[in-house]
Amino acid sequence: MKKSIIAFPRIGSNRELKFALEKYFRKEISEAELQIVAKELRLESWKSQKEAGIDYPISNDFSFYDQTLDLSIALGVIPERYKKLKLNELDTLFALARGFQDEENDVKARPMKKWFNTNYHYIVPEISKETVIKANFSKLLNEYQEAKTAGFETRPTIIGPYTFLILADYLSGVTEDAILSDLIGAYTVLFDQLNNLGGEWLQIEEPALVLDQTEEEQQLFIKIYQELLKNKNKLKVLLQTYFGDLRDSYQEIIKLDFDGIGLDFVEGRESVKLVQKYGFPQDKLLFAGVVNGKNIWRNHYQKTLSLLKDLGNIDNIVINTSCSLQHVPVTTENEIKLSKEILNHFAFAKEKLVEVSEISEIYVKKNTSLLDKNIALFDKNRVQENIQLKQKITHLTDKDFIRTPSLVERRADQIKALRLPLLPTTTIGSFPQTPEVRKARLQYKRGELSKSDYEAFLEEKIKECLELQENIGLDVLVHGEFERNDMVEYFGEQLDGYIFTQKAWVQSYGTRCVKPPIVWGDITRPQAMTVRWSAYAQSQTSKPVKGMLTGPVTILNWSFPREDISLKESTLQLALAVQEEVLDLEKAGIKIIQIDEAALREKLPLRRSDWYSEYLDWSIPAFRLVHSKVKAETQIHTHMCYSEFEDIIPSIDAMDADVISFEASRSQLSIIDALKAHHFQTLVGPGVYDIHSPRIPSSQEIKIQLEKILNKLPIEQVWVNPDCGLKTRGNKETIPSLTHLVEATKEVRKEKITYDK
Ligand code: GLN
Ligand code: ZN
Repeated sequence: MKKSIIAFPRIGSNRELKFALEKYFRKEISEAELQIVAKELRLESWKSQKEAGIDYPISNDFSFYDQTLDLSIALGVIPERYKKLKLNELDTLFALARGFQDEENDVKARPMKKWFNTNYHYIVPEISKETVIKANFSKLLNEYQEAKTAGFETRPTIIGPYTFLILADYLSGVTEDAILSDLIGAYTVLFDQLNNLGGEWLQIEEPALVLDQTEEEQQLFIKIYQELLKNKNKLKVLLQTYFGDLRDSYQEIIKLDFDGIGLDFVEGRESVKLVQKYGFPQDKLLFAGVVNGKNIWRNHYQKTLSLLKDLGNIDNIVINTSCSLQHVPVTTENEIKLSKEILNHFAFAKEKLVEVSEISEIYVKKNTSLLDKNIALFDKNRVQENIQLKQKITHLTDKDFIRTPSLVERRADQIKALRLPLLPTTTIGSFPQTPEVRKARLQYKRGELSKSDYEAFLEEKIKECLELQENIGLDVLVHGEFERNDMVEYFGEQLDGYIFTQKAWVQSYGTRCVKPPIVWGDITRPQAMTVRWSAYAQSQTSKPVKGMLTGPVTILNWSFPREDISLKESTLQLALAVQEEVLDLEKAGIKIIQIDEAALREKLPLRRSDWYSEYLDWSIPAFRLVHSKVKAETQIHTHMCYSEFEDIIPSIDAMDADVISFEASRSQLSIIDALKAHHFQTLVGPGVYDIHSPRIPSSQEIKIQLEKILNKLPIEQVWVNPDCGLKTRGNKETIPSLTHLVEATKEVRKEKITYDK
């Protein structure tokens, strides 16, 4: 029985790629030096796969920034403004990813979007009238060759044409038709070239197939592949899907001339049913995604085996992961602080290779000792249940989820209590985490800095940060979040029920990685988590300082969740803990409390029919539970990253926050129209500049952005802020950017007020 994975993490078990890239961006190493690091990482990954018995290690899953961006480059989908920079291929790629600014040029980064329902972000391809598809798959071919030279016959992977068309942005009335035949032509070229190199397999990833498909989209897919697969010659083509099932077009897809089809049996709720109902062609391999590529718990072999049995008599099964392993950390090997006992329950990417192998071993050879070991792991009660907490959750009533008085009624109380100017200016929370801040935190963690020295340092930083904000002229201040490494980990560390890894990094975008904590047991809050810092900050200024919390949905979405209780149950446990914190902050005199739900949209089910029943019906009330008991004059803010929530605006309004800030700067404000159309009640701060890029916006530019917003929304509804936290930025760009933001706001206020008179 064959063994397979879809892709391996490329960032490196010690984030080698991240550090090399950052050095390259700072011009400390050359491209050649960067390439050496990349090559080593690829080799390492092929070796691990081969050692574990994976039949075809994957190539071209490596990427310097993002695989969708790599595809845009391979297809020549590079907007003119980037070509004009006359950079080499790699730097052009980085210009698209990060923007480019020098004396003569100033080009923004392409927008990023969340990759389906993950916390990974891809760079959105841009198709315009000028787009001319021109195939250049040298990256894929070189990596395939590189592996071959190193002794590995790999299966190169590439994102497919259908997914590319679905994910792309189309400018000025251009449609898919404009590029369709050239796109098919480009993949045909790839088939030929790979054939010429003697490639055996090509894996084409088409995750867009698990989204709701229209009739036209179904036909588009069929059309593309009927055409394309005519030209595969000796090459075997695997259609790889993940993050869901193919319920819209399974029957049609299995008729196409693919040599293998990869289905997701972890997230694809209907995958088994589809195979049972419509069968699976015996002349193809079924790549069965049974090892969860998104979570870190050990595979439950008995359940997996029974799932495989449900597929019926298929001898052409290949054991596979459910999706790319880039969504889990590289290995548990480097975790030296967690006990063996605990680590035994986890499988990161490298350990999942072993699971794939073991499952196949048990399935074919009926290896009972492997199976018994796995059964024993799940037999014992891993954690003890908190009965009291369980009862508390069972006894929650509707009233617990509703804040009174209503949004509109309490607004007057808040205006009176806060006395803010029109277009209040603020930031999202964090200020640049300078090397100095990171160093102090590390020293404290290592015991090299005493608690009192560390706290004195933080107070100093907070004071500086408040002064800076006052000098710039912001209206609502923040303490800067210097005590936090990460907006989820920081809370996880103070809650009971969480455990932490040291090296379990997962790529979020480009060089940015996150280290999601793990929900191990029931969640409770032993003591206040943030009050000390917020209260200190408020004592230093007469302007309001926002209390700063992370909401329950985001905490859970950015953690590795339990699989033994429901997501809803875990979220409610978190909501009760955060509720206690909100009430403590209010008691400490904090008048504005921001509860970030940066990741709320992330886990929205991919299929519309699941949105409410599987997610919004419990996640939105969980947020309300957090703030339902505050006083009328306490203003509740929330923040969401990315404005991809046009389709769930009523649900966002139903969170019943008083103010929401979100990203709108990279995505052209289209959301504002949607807010208007839905009579959105919550006050809004659609970010007026993009903090994900080091570029400094001019005040003129911010002013224009603001005016665009004010053309659509009443001035009383608008707040002015950057589009996300400033943690990843330096002071060098942050200070002028915020200064421009305040300047622009002051000018607009002046103009508006004179005009209104
Ligand atoms: N308050 C957080 C910060 O400013 C929000 C971060 C986020 O939205 N990702 O860092
Ligand atoms: Zn954000």
